[in-house]
Amino acid sequence: MARYRDALCRLCRREGEKLYLKGDRCYTDKCGVEKRKYSPGQHGQRKKKPSDYALQLREKQKAKEIYGVLENQFKRYFYLSERMKGVTGSNLLQLLELRLDNLIYRLGFAANRRQARQLVLHGHFNVNDKRVSIPSYLVRTGDVVGIKEASKKISTIEENISKIEHRGLPSWIEVDIANLKGKVLHAPSREEIELPVHEQFIVELYSK
Ligand code: SF4
Repeated sequence: MARYRDALCRLCRREGEKLYLKGDRCYTDKCGVEKRKYSPGQHGQRKKKPSDYALQLREKQKAKEIYGVLENQFKRYFYLSERMKGVTGSNLLQLLELRLDNLIYRLGFAANRRQARQLVLHGHFNVNDKRVSIPSYLVRTGDVVGIKEASKKISTIEENISKIEHRGLPSWIEVDIANLKGKVLHAPSREEIELPVHEQFIVELYSK
């Protein structure tokens, strides 16, 4: 499947804010947004007032970039969220949060979502003791995610694990560092999802 392969910092600069796509580097002064506070490209330094459509489009692009999801898949999440009970925008973010690659990142087993996606694809994780290698797999309340025994020695995973204690953990999951397992306590509410996205704009965009 086609994926975005250009420089990740361009995406943040395009949105004019940090999307934290690279992990540790995002917290240093090497961050692309810190170094160049204007959009990439020839006309990046031009300023003009964005239209309503442009604002809606940017919010959608931002959410897609943060979770590393392509257009068609993102649309499918939207249609699914419309059919769920509750507020469509919050449902959409909840579905994205419940993706296995996102959970691996939130638990601290990966430095960023893209790395999490790679690690999942390579089959390094179990869900309820069964190997799952599908990054878009949606976890449920009570699911327990663990690192496969043989994968605990992989240097990338070892390095991530050594930093887990210093990372904040969302309230909807818990991690057992001794056994390298994480559990979904409940599906996250909007308040529990820390994300610089105005999801209502996305709903307006797709509802046209
Ligand atoms: Fe975005 Fe991280 Fe690059 Fe900064 S370092 S521009 S937050 S991806």
